[in-house]
Amino acid sequence: MKYRIALIPGDGIGPDVVEQGVIALRAVAERFSRELSFAELPMGGCAIDECGEPLPASTLAACRESDAVLLGAVGGPKWDHLGGKLRPEAGLLGLRAGLGVYANLRPARVFPELAAACPLRPDIIDGGLDILILRELTGGIYFGERGRSPDGESAWDTERYSRAEICHLLERGFEAARGRSGRLCVVDKANVLESSRLWRETAKAMARDWPSVELSFMYVDNCAMQLVANPRQFDVIATSNMFGDILSDEAAMITGSIGMLASASLGDSGPGLYEPIHGSAPDLAGQDRANPLATILSAAMLLRYSLGFEEGARAIEAAVSGALAAGLRCADIARRGDAAGGERIVGTREMGQAVAELIRRG
Ligand code: NAD
Repeated sequence: MKYRIALIPGDGIGPDVVEQGVIALRAVAERFSRELSFAELPMGGCAIDECGEPLPASTLAACRESDAVLLGAVGGPKWDHLGGKLRPEAGLLGLRAGLGVYANLRPARVFPELAAACPLRPDIIDGGLDILILRELTGGIYFGERGRSPDGESAWDTERYSRAEICHLLERGFEAARGRSGRLCVVDKANVLESSRLWRETAKAMARDWPSVELSFMYVDNCAMQLVANPRQFDVIATSNMFGDILSDEAAMITGSIGMLASASLGDSGPGLYEPIHGSAPDLAGQDRANPLATILSAAMLLRYSLGFEEGARAIEAAVSGALAAGLRCADIARRGDAAGGERIVGTREMGQAVAELIRRG
């Protein structure tokens, strides 16, 4: 079977890192004799320049027809003067909505080789760290009713969730926990918010169908503290759109660099969307300086969740670990002020090639 992968390199370092993601996917295809085809599509600032809009209808249509979408990043100073719907980032929101991807999965993992890049005390992450944050992506306060009073002196945004939306997201949470260490923590503010109480009620009712998963609850303010005090207590965290936005960035920083963090956004059917969590880093664009590992790890998630190809995903993850174990570092993950330790600083392409070579070797 031939799988079709839509590529959206985007702006800034997007094309630099997506190129390396594709090289990793081609190496997997070669090693396991799979057929993958790639089609490159415009979105973001480059699409504004080419087609006058951030998300051309032809791009969305081609994404819908593909098996999965691999995206780099969009945006940059060139388009910062544009308003609302014309901005590159509007393309990203349109693509997420257009593909109906409501569950955002962000793994936060500290690779043992990068423990020194973690800002927490070594004893706190002793034994490694591997958390999966599952964030609801298409509902809640970012999409609720908002407004201003006529005199402009007060404003409101509304957090609203239906039981069906919560159920939808939590299904993914229970499923993910079952495939990992079996612990699901639902994070909310149920001591204050009615919507959070509905999250708890729904989770408790669903838990009966998932006897192998240990369900717990935590208030979001406590979770923010626990993520830095004792992050190893978590396996899968499931939460609403805004809480997930904030907590996943906090968890990301624990791992040391934004250049290492992958993400997957999934709906019920249709292609998933895979992207590094970083932006277009215009300061590094086209200079062979961006860390491609977040995108390469996003490609691993693409194989796992959209193509059901776990062996391929593991091959990529093992190769990334192998490259790090061999001492290869992009500048963002190099030990600062410490030239010892057998580390060698490499550029985007050399890191990508090293990972691809390790994938091929197996
Ligand atoms: P950013 O993530 O692009 O950069 C933040 C910092 O991290 C910079 O110092 C950058 O050099 C560094 N960095 C980011 N990715 C890196 C990588 N792979 N390797 C090494 N270093 C890396 O965030 P920003 O500076 O706030 O935004 C820049 C542009 O990106 C803006 O136009 C913003 O709107 C856009 N943006 C896009 C997305 C997206 O497409 N999903 C997400 C966030 C920001």
